[in-house]
Amino acid sequence: MIQLIRGFKDILPGETALWQHIEKTATALFSAFGFGEIRLPIMEKTELFARSIGEDTDIVEKEMYTFTDRGGDQLTLRPEATASLVRSYIQHKMYADEPVRRFYTIGPMFRRERPQKGRYRQFYQINVEAFGIEGPFIDAQMIYMLHTLFEQLGVHGTQAHVNSLGCPECRPKFRDALLALLDGAEDQLCSDCRRRKARNPLRVLDCKVPGCRQAVKGAPAIVDYLCDDCRQHFEVVKQVLTRNDIPFVLDKRLVRGLDYYTRTTFEIQTTALGAQSAVAGGGRYDGLVKALGGPATPGIGFAIGFDRLVEILAQQSDIQAPNPQLYIAALGDKAREMAFQWTLALAKGGLHVDMEHANKSLKAQMKRANRLKAAHVLIVGEDELAAGKGVLRDMATKEQIDLSIDNIIETLQQRLLA
Ligand code: AMP
Repeated sequence: MIQLIRGFKDILPGETALWQHIEKTATALFSAFGFGEIRLPIMEKTELFARSIGEDTDIVEKEMYTFTDRGGDQLTLRPEATASLVRSYIQHKMYADEPVRRFYTIGPMFRRERPQKGRYRQFYQINVEAFGIEGPFIDAQMIYMLHTLFEQLGVHGTQAHVNSLGCPECRPKFRDALLALLDGAEDQLCSDCRRRKARNPLRVLDCKVPGCRQAVKGAPAIVDYLCDDCRQHFEVVKQVLTRNDIPFVLDKRLVRGLDYYTRTTFEIQTTALGAQSAVAGGGRYDGLVKALGGPATPGIGFAIGFDRLVEILAQQSDIQAPNPQLYIAALGDKAREMAFQWTLALAKGGLHVDMEHANKSLKAQMKRANRLKAAHVLIVGEDELAAGKGVLRDMATKEQIDLSIDNIIETLQQRLLA
């Protein structure tokens, strides 16, 4: 038997109710904040990711699903959505008439990481991005929206971590200070960090290898090196969060070690998923639109790990697929044919209805209705049909009433469609 690919998974019917609930809640919230949906391809030219995510990151170095197609093009299954969004923003010149654009997009991402709980090779993200807004309110709003979404979903035990990465003006000073520390701790670093240190020392702050964690214990904090503008920007972000009772911790180790990332970065962390603590992450990327060939345009966004959010909520809430409101137990060919006609009209009218299609005994059909947790069963046997009636049973109270089969659609709709 052919099994699915390692690190990929099926999201089964019993699980999708929770996915749909999250998606509905999230899209309603983001729409209220003026974000519109954008749908993007799951494959792009490899170069797009290499240039935006950065050559010396884990993702580009070892995790991308990259291949040459039959025409000889180098293509990659997207490992994240921001690069495609920026590509689309530039390609369609969305900046031309209205540079302020807000998007959300939901879909699968692909990274060839080592699979474990909360970490898959195909996983889903809910991405939210805003272009063209330079001031700090939008930064705070992003974290506010995340906080509100989690609150609306009833997710407990998460914490917002925030940091500022400064800008190309103030970051070099921090970089030098960090490099001085790393130079003295070279032999403690993992081989990746030793190699990356020269090009991108900020990445070492992010490394999970114990030796590297130890090496950066006494590392300076970027926030101590911010220029006046960056410090002011970050102050306002924190003020707005405080004013709105959004709890956060200042996390000096939180970095997005790419040149394009600037100023505010944030992550929502949880203790509910073991080692995979990040359920959402984001930040400002004021340099990215320009770096990918567009006009200088500030940008900020975040990605929620959809699979992780589902896993947390599955532990904390009880959202299940809806059960049929009505199950029709029909006995005999004639009754079954009639019942089938009724299901067409009832379902068209919005009632969740099911029936047995095979020739089964009443006992077997009642058993199935129970298994499906149907709220009501309409029993139509040969005798009932001859008498022009059916029997409606409320499965919770076990109460039964006779219903005339004249106008049965309207009667059932009136009784069962709240
Ligand atoms: P990133 O783009 O790495 O900041 O990821 C954003 C969010 O996506 C993370 O906070 C995770 O919740 C989620 N995520 C990242 N990688 C994976 C993965 N391999 N499997 C499941 N979720 C992931």
